[in-house]
Amino acid sequence: MIEIKNVSKYYAGRPALKNINLSLKEGETHIFLGSSGSGKSTLLRIVSGLIDADEGHISISGETVSSQNQRKLSSRIAYVIQEGGLFPHLTARENVGLAARLAGWNEQKIKARVSELCSLVQLEEVSLEQFPKQLSGGQRQRIALMRALMLDPPLILLDEPLGALDPLVRSELQKELKRIFNQVKKTVIMVTHDIGEGAFFGHTLSLFNEGQLIQHGNFKSFIQNPASDFVTRFIRAQVPPPELLESL
Ligand code: ADP
Ligand code: MG
Repeated sequence: MIEIKNVSKYYAGRPALKNINLSLKEGETHIFLGSSGSGKSTLLRIVSGLIDADEGHISISGETVSSQNQRKLSSRIAYVIQEGGLFPHLTARENVGLAARLAGWNEQKIKARVSELCSLVQLEEVSLEQFPKQLSGGQRQRIALMRALMLDPPLILLDEPLGALDPLVRSELQKELKRIFNQVKKTVIMVTHDIGEGAFFGHTLSLFNEGQLIQHGNFKSFIQNPASDFVTRFIRAQVPPPELLESL
């Protein structure tokens, strides 16, 4: 379990997160949903141990998460930041292998693991000799994911991994990511502002607004039992009306 208890975070006295409580099951995919500025990335960063909450407590499998034990946690948590965060001066192969190299793996073991990941994310191995800026958005996301999976961490945190992609590439990668998540059987927390994407991936969805957790549950419960008008408006704003779908 990932236990988030009474977590609040303030920036210059203004709350970015207000008393968040959530229990997330291991082995499932959880979605943090909400408009820009609602606090999704801040909570993901706190779960990763990169920043600390001002109030409250987070634990993963019973172990407290804080920036003080971030080094220890970092081998067990993969965190892909919003823009992918690849190092521009390293080739894709060097980016993917970096953590393993730091962990003291030999070159042969690194090469074998990189090949394995290449076939998992269905990337041609020749692309690995390129620098990030020579690759397409879709290829960069695959590489960021490979880098995250390199040390086989049980928990994967993804901040809008498909946000910058055009709709066709995005829909293609959504299907592939889901296949990968099912295949690797990891705990995943993924941030998105897209309810369709959330419904497609999430065993659970957590909807945030202005730093507050508005509703938590599966997609069906959002539709059948919306916690407030805000939930209904948030869903309606993104799901096209049936008349429009029928007219296509
Ligand atoms: P989201 O990911 O949902 O778009 P964020 O978690 O990035 O939202 O931001 C939540 C709120 O906290 C916003 O009002 C944002 O401006 C503020 N915020 C986030 N990070 C910082 C920071 N490092 N310094 C100051 N304010 C921040
Ligand atoms: Mg964000």
